[in-house]
Amino acid sequence: MKHENFGKDCQVQLHTESKPFMKLVQETAAELKLQDKEDAFFLVDLGDIVKKVEMWRQCLPRVEPFYAVKCNPDRAVLRLLAHLGIGFDCASKKEMSEIVDLGVEPSRIVFAHTCKPRTDIRYAAQVNVDLMTFDNEEELRKIKAFFPSARLLLRILPPANFNVQYAFGDKFGCHQLQASSLLRTARDLGLDVVGVSFHVGSGVEEGEVYAAAVRSAATVFDEAHALGFHFHILDVGGGFFSAPAVFRPVAEVLRTALDLHFPEKRKVRIMAEPGRYFVEAAFSLTVTVIAKRRASPRVASNGNGVEGLEEKEAFEYYVNDGIHGSFHNVTLGVCNQLMEIRPVHPPENAKRHVSSLWGPTCNGGDKIFSDVMLPELQVGDVINFTQMGAYTICLTTSFNGIPRPLIFYHCCDTVWEKLFPTDRQTAEPEK
Ligand SMILES: *Cc1c(COP(=O)(O)O)cnc(C)c1O
Repeated sequence: MKHENFGKDCQVQLHTESKPFMKLVQETAAELKLQDKEDAFFLVDLGDIVKKVEMWRQCLPRVEPFYAVKCNPDRAVLRLLAHLGIGFDCASKKEMSEIVDLGVEPSRIVFAHTCKPRTDIRYAAQVNVDLMTFDNEEELRKIKAFFPSARLLLRILPPANFNVQYAFGDKFGCHQLQASSLLRTARDLGLDVVGVSFHVGSGVEEGEVYAAAVRSAATVFDEAHALGFHFHILDVGGGFFSAPAVFRPVAEVLRTALDLHFPEKRKVRIMAEPGRYFVEAAFSLTVTVIAKRRASPRVASNGNGVEGLEEKEAFEYYVNDGIHGSFHNVTLGVCNQLMEIRPVHPPENAKRHVSSLWGPTCNGGDKIFSDVMLPELQVGDVINFTQMGAYTICLTTSFNGIPRPLIFYHCCDTVWEKLFPTDRQTAEPEK
């Protein structure tokens, strides 16, 4: 098997395009078994991220993506996106410093948090990350004190009457009707507001929510111009699903709205902050069944007041990752609906049973899924979950001493060759 180094702490296994993915899962599980290890592990397809970058550029050519680091701050992911020329949406000092350390220009970073600690604003000034969002007066005063030359984006609330998987509610964004008064305050403080941002929520299935938010941003642009500002940036936030069948039509609606309200001749720079879009499909997680029980029997009465136990045809499996680990997003309701649960060695045509999957901790609420249909599994069998790249590795704890999953990278050799052509001896970034 061919491996390439990608930075000093990351090896990428290269394989041909025709290699079935489940074969890769099986081989990795077998390899670990040889080493007497039973850890849960992620397989990361770096090639999938490359494809997502290509699809973005094809569907939204006017929109510059700034990857939302919080969604998955894996070093290899960040390094790859930096290599591909993507910008970054950072929300804290730590996120900014990681990106700056990768050698990314500060102009390719937006500090997209509207309620920032003063220390973080000071840090942004030090490293010259000068584009940042705000939605309240107090924030303007802090920015005036610590980074008066920053360029600001006013974050507005998205329209509320649309379906998104995870809405941000009232925590961030000002109402469109508050915009003028905030802009007046900014003007009085001598601050440079350069545009509008919004974030419609995570997991968008209908593009109309973007269209409505773009309309509302256009209104704020007009108000700002009336107040003497020269707005020239629109940031349409994140929320995009990565599945092409969902992304393409949503992107089409957004593109049409942008062409209508912000036609190219207006010379407005359009940016976005996609998180889950780039990473959700690239990561799969494989866990091992560490214990198994029959579902607790039901206590049943025979009608004469005599109680007995009635066995249920159901199984409970305990696996080595759970809601305090990579499945925390299940409890938040943001796990990907396209996730597939695939036993890696399914007995051919085996009967399927109602099954529950429990995490490994002592928390009685550490249940990942109930009522999934699975063939009967044995202790030591492995199960693969697809679509595990968004809001997974960043939300894990080591509660109960459960280790975090291992991470292995792979990529199709032709994609890798295009990324780092061997004849040009492209040096991989060393960080
Ligand atoms: C979380 C977040 C994003 C990314 O959201 P996704 O749904 O992962 O695309 C973008 N912008 C802001 C301000 C965020 O908080």
